[in-house]
Amino acid sequence: AKERGGNKYEFYQSALDGIHRNKIKLERSLRKALEREEFVLYYQPQVSAADGTAGGAEALIRWVHDGRFVSPGDFIPVAEETGLIVPIGDWVMRTACRQAKLWQDAGMPQMKMGINVSPVQLQQDDFVETVTRILSETGFQPHLLVLEITEGIAIRDIQDTVDKLVALKAMGIRISMDDFGTGYSSLGFLQTFKVDELKIAQTFISHIAEKDDHAQIVKAIVAMAHSLELDVIAEGVETREQFAIMRELQCDWIQGYYFCKPMPSEEFERYLDERGRK
Ligand code: C2E
Ligand code: CA
Ligand code: CA
Repeated sequence: AKERGGNKYEFYQSALDGIHRNKIKLERSLRKALEREEFVLYYQPQVSAADGTAGGAEALIRWVHDGRFVSPGDFIPVAEETGLIVPIGDWVMRTACRQAKLWQDAGMPQMKMGINVSPVQLQQDDFVETVTRILSETGFQPHLLVLEITEGIAIRDIQDTVDKLVALKAMGIRISMDDFGTGYSSLGFLQTFKVDELKIAQTFISHIAEKDDHAQIVKAIVAMAHSLELDVIAEGVETREQFAIMRELQCDWIQGYYFCKPMPSEEFERYLDERGRK
């Protein structure tokens, strides 16, 4: 899912083979999906390892196409190659901020809202303006907005990316490094820009209960993050053992099926009603 496709030139050059013919079909369907409002957001709680309360949520896009769910892993890469991720990403941000503001206004506990930002979005000249506009349109507070970025952004034009991140941070927006540890430049990027949060990739979490060296690596990541004064969140925590280990390793936040799967907004609201108001 994390694999980014080739450049446009390669894409059109091989446009006649079956897979790419499919991509063209997919692109056409994606365009229509925006007009027809076929996208929905699911929300997954991020709970405090210390006391189990929800401090935030991550918005995850779902595409309901011909009555079936298409996984973001299948369509986000095509959306990125075609540039459609820009309007789709705007929609995600606007919808998630609007929803979070609605929950706030309804008296739900204050929560951060995490949004996945594609490197392609960050490369847009007007990205900072777009975020500013969405915040003012929705009235959502910048300090509750968390932009989850991946290490892929570090590959091209680092200075331009860093300038934008600095501007966003100056507005109070939080920056989270998603899938930490999986790219080749994770540590290097931390030297270039001080993010607010590290999200430890699921691949590091999935075997911590059986493999002591995995647990040691996670322990080291947490220690490093804390010495840099960054929050640490573990994603993909599925079992009680994994949760117990992450808690013992002083991880701050936990996200994963052990607590909750991503849910549509109404279900998330019920979850908050039952568990969040403690
Ligand atoms: P991600 O940002 O790393 O998101 C975490 C993925 O792990 C989500 O998959 C989530 O549903 C899944 N997950 C959460 N807890 C668990 C668990 O305990 N076990 C397992 N096995 N999985 C868990 P999802 O929703 O299919 O999204 C896949 C990827 O698609 C995301 O990975 C992200 O890279 C991308 N994506 C999703 N929504 C958006 C979006 O709105 N914009 C962009 N640009 N990318 C998105
Ligand atoms: Ca994410
Ligand atoms: Ca991940």
